[in-house]
Amino acid sequence: MTYPAGGAHAFTPRHVRVDLPLGHRFPMAKYDRLAARLERDGWHLERSPSVSWEALAAVHDAAYLDAVRTVSLDARAERRLGFPQSHALVQRSVASTGGTVAALARALGQGLGVHLAGGTHHAFADRGEGFCVFNDLVVAARALRTRAPRVLVIDLDVHQGNGTADLAADDPDLITYSVHGERNYPFQKSRSDLDRALPDGIDDDGYLAVVAADVPRLLAEHAPSAVLYQAGVDVLAGDRFGRMALTIDGVEARDRLVAGACAQRGIPLAYALGGGYHRDVDVTVEAHRRGLEAIVEVCHGPGSVVSGAAPMPGVC
Ligand SMILES: [Zn+2]
Repeated sequence: MTYPAGGAHAFTPRHVRVDLPLGHRFPMAKYDRLAARLERDGWHLERSPSVSWEALAAVHDAAYLDAVRTVSLDARAERRLGFPQSHALVQRSVASTGGTVAALARALGQGLGVHLAGGTHHAFADRGEGFCVFNDLVVAARALRTRAPRVLVIDLDVHQGNGTADLAADDPDLITYSVHGERNYPFQKSRSDLDRALPDGIDDDGYLAVVAADVPRLLAEHAPSAVLYQAGVDVLAGDRFGRMALTIDGVEARDRLVAGACAQRGIPLAYALGGGYHRDVDVTVEAHRRGLEAIVEVCHGPGSVVSGAAPMPGVC
């Protein structure tokens, strides 16, 4: 696989704006800031396409989809979601899911696909929670099943991918791996194919030892057609909803490790953003930027972030 001339590429749903109430705890600004920063670095950004309601219906219950689409979730469901419902939120969620489908499709063609949103792993068949309306990971895996018969979800967000694990429970061709905080949300966890519940305060070395041992083994064991990577950076020290103590260097090493393991086996890799709630939103953005730079370097060779750089043979 070769990277196309013109540099690194990512999908972004930034064309669909959601204005949250003043003081809302979700850092919506991270998406635009990351997209703008990567654009300055020479990345080519493309709009996340809207996913079809048919593709959503392959994962979510009809009654839930209907309530979301018509902005008529009940108060309890809306509270669990964590966002005030609106037509803009529906459009954003549709793009945020479509971008992950597009990133996986791109990965299957080019080796790497990047979505600067998504990773909404707390969405179940019949409900959303924890800022997740639709489960983009499962929707993407199901939508592209004929091209990628077996998909491994590597979920390294600090919170367990409970929705993903639940949705994949009866699906032998959707394998789930989650590394998360044992004492963190969600307090009632679902069962992934492999769960690693880590203690509060774990640092780079302790965390990376787990991922470095598990990921190559999972790839060898399951031989997936593609990897969907939920690359949440809420593992960073100083994250408001995390309890771990990784550094940005640690996140970069983690992302390099995941990409390197995929590259070694020639497995297509699709990246979804996941969580990140650092007190300083620019730290969240910088962690993603550094991780993505490492991934692109591993998959497509050094210098490929720069627009116009000579394409290198890709190996992911
Ligand atoms: Zn999270």
